[in-house]
Amino acid sequence: MRIVLFGPPGSGKGTQASLLKEKYGAAHISTGDTLREAVANGTEVGLKAKSYMEKGELVPDEVVIAIAKDKLASVGDKGFILDGFPRTIAQAQALDIALSEIGKPLEAVVNLRVDEEELVRRLSGRRVCPGCGEPYHIDTKPAKAEGVCDKCGTALIHRADDQAEAIRNRLKVYNEQTAPVLGYYEKSGILKNIEAVGQISEIHNQIVEAIK
Ligand code: AMP
Repeated sequence: MRIVLFGPPGSGKGTQASLLKEKYGAAHISTGDTLREAVANGTEVGLKAKSYMEKGELVPDEVVIAIAKDKLASVGDKGFILDGFPRTIAQAQALDIALSEIGKPLEAVVNLRVDEEELVRRLSGRRVCPGCGEPYHIDTKPAKAEGVCDKCGTALIHRADDQAEAIRNRLKVYNEQTAPVLGYYEKSGILKNIEAVGQISEIHNQIVEAIK
């Protein structure tokens, strides 16, 4: 499996990537998770990325492309699910070049479609475990004990970029810089559109059908 999960922030890429990883055993590569880890560890990459991320801006292409290539180089034959990468045309081109060099082109780009009102509702109620990455939502998927991860017991966080102003900016950035990438994949004929509203398991089944 070599796929990209595409879609605006809050469209469920992380949630669906976890389910696909469980089903197919492929590597889940999230540039957002890797960047957050770098920020938490205070690495050089983290220091570069922090201010962009807090404002909901995109981290510069060269930084993110280097991260994605590094991760891809370590997945071997088990395949990968890219989540949150590529987000610009330049990133999509760099990905195509890197994969064609190793003779393993993308098989599908799954676009999770969700309208903007629903995205704002999802993002503003989102909480996440900084320990294991498990996502929660205050209304639709609350933790069993308030504010604590069911899986690993770590205190949940409300991401700085899930606050109202950053959410608005992330959606604007998505519309201006990321949505055009869809046209790029439409041309190559590997784009699959999924209406990503409703039960998580139903959306998962639709994705499984689309990538068969
Ligand atoms: P995510 O968890 O995928 O929503 O990513 C969180 C933040 O990390 C984004 O708002 C960006 O600031 C940064 N980021 C993640 N992936 C990329 C990417 N492919 N290109 C640029 N910035 C990214």
